Amino acid sequence: MNDFYKEILDFISTIEIIDTHEHLPCKEIDRDVNVDVLKEYLGHYFNRDLMSAGLFTENYKRIIEEDIPLMEKWRLVEPYWELSRYTGYGRALDIVAKDIYGIEKIDGSSIEELNDKFLKTLKIGHFKKILKDKCKIKTSLLNVETLDKKYDPLKERSIHCDREFFSPVYRIEYLVFPKLWSHIQKIEKQSGIGITSFTRWLEATENIIEKAYSMGSVALKHHLAYLRTLKYDRVPRSLAEEEFNNIFSTKHMPDWDERPAPTGKAFQDYMFHFILDIANRKNLIVQIHTGILEGCGNKLSNSNPELLSNLFLEYPEVTFDLFHISYPYQNELTVLAKNFANVFIDMCWAHIVSPNASVNSLLEWFCTVPLNKISAFGGDYLFVDGVYGHLKLAQQNVAKALSMKVMEGLFDMDNAMKVARMLFYENPKNIFRLAV
Ligand SMILES: [Zn+2]
Repeated sequence: MNDFYKEILDFISTIEIIDTHEHLPCKEIDRDVNVDVLKEYLGHYFNRDLMSAGLFTENYKRIIEEDIPLMEKWRLVEPYWELSRYTGYGRALDIVAKDIYGIEKIDGSSIEELNDKFLKTLKIGHFKKILKDKCKIKTSLLNVETLDKKYDPLKERSIHCDREFFSPVYRIEYLVFPKLWSHIQKIEKQSGIGITSFTRWLEATENIIEKAYSMGSVALKHHLAYLRTLKYDRVPRSLAEEEFNNIFSTKHMPDWDERPAPTGKAFQDYMFHFILDIANRKNLIVQIHTGILEGCGNKLSNSNPELLSNLFLEYPEVTFDLFHISYPYQNELTVLAKNFANVFIDMCWAHIVSPNASVNSLLEWFCTVPLNKISAFGGDYLFVDGVYGHLKLAQQNVAKALSMKVMEGLFDMDNAMKVARMLFYENPKNIFRLAV
């Protein structure tokens, strides 16, 4: 690594961070304490590398669901851990073990010591230690799918999440793609509007978005590429209403059964356009999942950001923040961010998905897209230690790309440091209009 790298990395380690995306518990007190280190760290991401390497799903389930000795769990994963430890997911965990727990690397000789130390962190104060003291995160944008855990529209004035750490982002999934009557009931509860027709559904949607913002939401989140294509066609209202009316065909089913609420693509297309129309009038920010889909399998082509082009054109007042560098469609994203003033690049999750693609993309963007279009970090973790491991990789990747550009002569050192601060702090602060 060149000489500039270390100097830039040292500087980056002092910068405060705005974290564009997390899935952490809304309050530290909500944290699941009935865990061991393997259950917590294998809740997502690295578990998929282990399964991709050959770990059987049934054995994975034993680690998550059964109360068996830690070493027994370790023996189930060990061969696959060794095969996967060099992926971004694996490296993030080794960074955590080393920097937070003083353990050189996670293996059969250290896992019990790591677990003992990890269990001691299951108390209030660990969030502050990781997010504030170690990561220097000013605020993390946090996914919330309901306005409040025990939402009471008459009592609650703010979304259930700890504002010391988080800025809430409301997930619009049930408004666009309800699957069960229990989802419809959630919407009824959050809006205070009984769903008796399509007209009431639209009213409830408008009401909830307004409420989410008045209760502190800073953006809306769309993650439906997991379930369907990102191509949202314009459809007539009558067609959407016809599909919506299907939900009433299951209303007679007993409430102890999971009553499905079958809608279709036309309804979903109409609803997302309806929401974007609200967002366009109110000048809102919409975060959209694009690219790689967490979990095993799925249809990658559904998540190509190019499918969203009609929306970028039709809703110019909406700010579109596209997640995960759209990996492996990062080239498509480059062109979209270059061509559309309302499209922004969000590197959340990217540095651990592919550290290499993250560095290469930065090298590409520095000479292709304006510097204000890139946010460098979003942890995208379910557990707080992971945020630290991811941030360290992100800082290294940005330092690598910047130092290479200094060597090329594109930036001098002062410029490189200015750009680093833009990517980790100023850009996300401006894009999400945060008062931090
Ligand atoms: Zn996410």
